[in-house]
Amino acid sequence: MRYGIVADIHGNLEALEAVLHGLEGKVDQIVCLGDIVGYGPNPNECCEILRKQNIPSVAGNHEKATTGELELTRFNKNAAAAILWTQKVLLPENLQYIKDLPLTLDLPGFEIVHGSLVNPAEEYLTNLSEALPTFELMKKTLLFVGHTHRPLNLEQEGKKIINPGSVGQPRDGDPRAAFIIYDDKTGEAQLLRVNYDIEAVQNKMKAADLPQFLIERLSVGR
Ligand code: ZN
Repeated sequence: MRYGIVADIHGNLEALEAVLHGLEGKVDQIVCLGDIVGYGPNPNECCEILRKQNIPSVAGNHEKATTGELELTRFNKNAAAAILWTQKVLLPENLQYIKDLPLTLDLPGFEIVHGSLVNPAEEYLTNLSEALPTFELMKKTLLFVGHTHRPLNLEQEGKKIINPGSVGQPRDGDPRAAFIIYDDKTGEAQLLRVNYDIEAVQNKMKAADLPQFLIERLSVGR
């Protein structure tokens, strides 16, 4: 079975569509590691694509903040402004959809979580020492995480934690949308990048009066 692993879409419809196009015919199932909304101008459209295509997803910190389960004081000024905007525009059915998302999901052969197994919505795993407590909690030998917006591959005693990077707001210096194709037969996880119409997203963000910093960072992937 081949899986498309996507994370941190952040209301970026153009990036999500480019990634889904890149996955077409190449995978049997797509799974999402959370942060479907926040930052970007199309949170409703992104939720609707995941709902319609029955793409299993966990909740990220931006879902938890949009539903009011996480305080906005836990976010920087730009992120908080985008969350307030998302709360205003998100349709009731999509709010209900993100409310119902689980924090972790067990799939055949691997688990998924947004941040870490210690603090599912909020903890950043950026290196092996930070990841050790999560390795301890893993029930399977493979865990996919998102949240940092940077691809990462960690190994510890035969277990792996893999981060595909971000679809909608990469922060590793490459502005192209990032995702993974994982083949559970070979165990291979292939990191892929795809171009999308960044300017179209930036124009929509300007029209929505979203913070300038969030608009500019899409061009540089930082
Ligand atoms: Zn995120």
